[in-house]
Amino acid sequence: MLSTHDEMNVYQSAEARFELAAKKLGLEEGVYRFMRYPTKEITVYIPVIMDNGRLEVFIGYRVHHSIVRGPAKGGIRFAPGVTLDEIRALASEMTWKCAVVNIPFGGAKGGIICDPAKLSRGELERLTRRYTAELVEWFGPDRDIPAPDLGTNEQVMAWVMDTYSMHVRRTATEVVTGKPVEMGGSQGRREATGRGLLLACDNALAKFGMKREVTRVVIQGFGNVGSVAANLMSQAGYKIVGVSDVNGGLYNEKGFDIPKVIDWVHVQRKPLPDFPGGGAKVETYDMLFQPCEIAIPAAIENQITRANANRLQARILCEGANGPTTALADDAIDAKGVFVIPDILANAGGVTVSYFEWVQDRQGMYWKESEVNARLKDILENAFDEVVRYSETNNVNNRVAAYMLAIDRVAFVLRLRGIYA
Ligand code: NAD
Repeated sequence: MLSTHDEMNVYQSAEARFELAAKKLGLEEGVYRFMRYPTKEITVYIPVIMDNGRLEVFIGYRVHHSIVRGPAKGGIRFAPGVTLDEIRALASEMTWKCAVVNIPFGGAKGGIICDPAKLSRGELERLTRRYTAELVEWFGPDRDIPAPDLGTNEQVMAWVMDTYSMHVRRTATEVVTGKPVEMGGSQGRREATGRGLLLACDNALAKFGMKREVTRVVIQGFGNVGSVAANLMSQAGYKIVGVSDVNGGLYNEKGFDIPKVIDWVHVQRKPLPDFPGGGAKVETYDMLFQPCEIAIPAAIENQITRANANRLQARILCEGANGPTTALADDAIDAKGVFVIPDILANAGGVTVSYFEWVQDRQGMYWKESEVNARLKDILENAFDEVVRYSETNNVNNRVAAYMLAIDRVAFVLRLRGIYA
């Protein structure tokens, strides 16, 4: 059974969605042309002395899609399949995501082609530091603020912050978000993307008059996003009936004891499919198509395609991952009547608390977790309401509504600023 890559890459999907929303908005030609391209992009060749003494050269990218509404903002991913097209697409999605939740950032993304699981801690540190050193002129609290993504974490962000700080000769905590709390990270950042998914699902349930206790959830991906969402949602009363990671997954109608699964996978470091809590083994690409009310992709892109979309059983598709659904699958999903909470809205909790982290670092003043979470809830609920209202008023699906709202916001500022052409 095909899971992915049978029809469109993420860049083509991102382009198709931009085109559709821009057309519906009737964007004037100059604005349209300006917005469909990135502002700039760079490829860096990163020499690293490996533990065995050999020198390897890794390839990395950074793309700024937009700085119209504020400095470029976006994660850095370490993964074997990273491509420039993928990073371009993700950079543009960051622009729209920041605009959907109305925070004053543009969009960026970066990545290095590598398999972090196969690198030692020392190799990872050297790789991160040299990548950062190559990008010292790109990064900056008012230019481009990186964050974690697939395959990177708080430790990697600490190395980015330290390397940048050594080059600019001051401690610049505000150059990167998703850092450890002890060095300027925000309370609640680690959980923010997963908390955002919980809030998005709560909003959808309220809309449909559904109850958490009888809502079955399947989650593909059990990393930063998937495992936190699973934990917060099970604490809130949802029934998490399916979980999977790159090694495979488990499905159990009775629901899983999520803290025990987290301990098994992340503390004991054992393969998820061997978790002794019962359940039928399911291939990781098949998890999203199991019986449930909510399906949450929280791993990689292109998991739901035109070829498999009709197998979705969920009533609500809440996109934790970036680009988990190809543009060609959108019509089939609509035809099934699935309520989609698109990635640029559903997973915006991470960048929203990143924004809070940047604000706190710039002020040198720190907020309590309760304050962070209350502000997050406020922003995400408002964005959810705006997207759903826009969708209903303009008779478009939620994804098109989110893109239209976001593109319109960026275009508005672009017209005010003017294009320096
Ligand atoms: P992560 O590296 O912490 O976890 C990724 C998870 O996906 C792991 O469980 C891994 O086993 C699984 N996985 C990896 N390759 C897979 C494959 N080929 N098939 C199935 N599963 C696979 O990454 P993360 O930070 O949780 O990010 C997951 C997704 O969420 C990405 O699309 C990322 O861009 C997006 N995202 C992350 C954040 C964030 O704050 N971390 C914010 C917004 C969006």
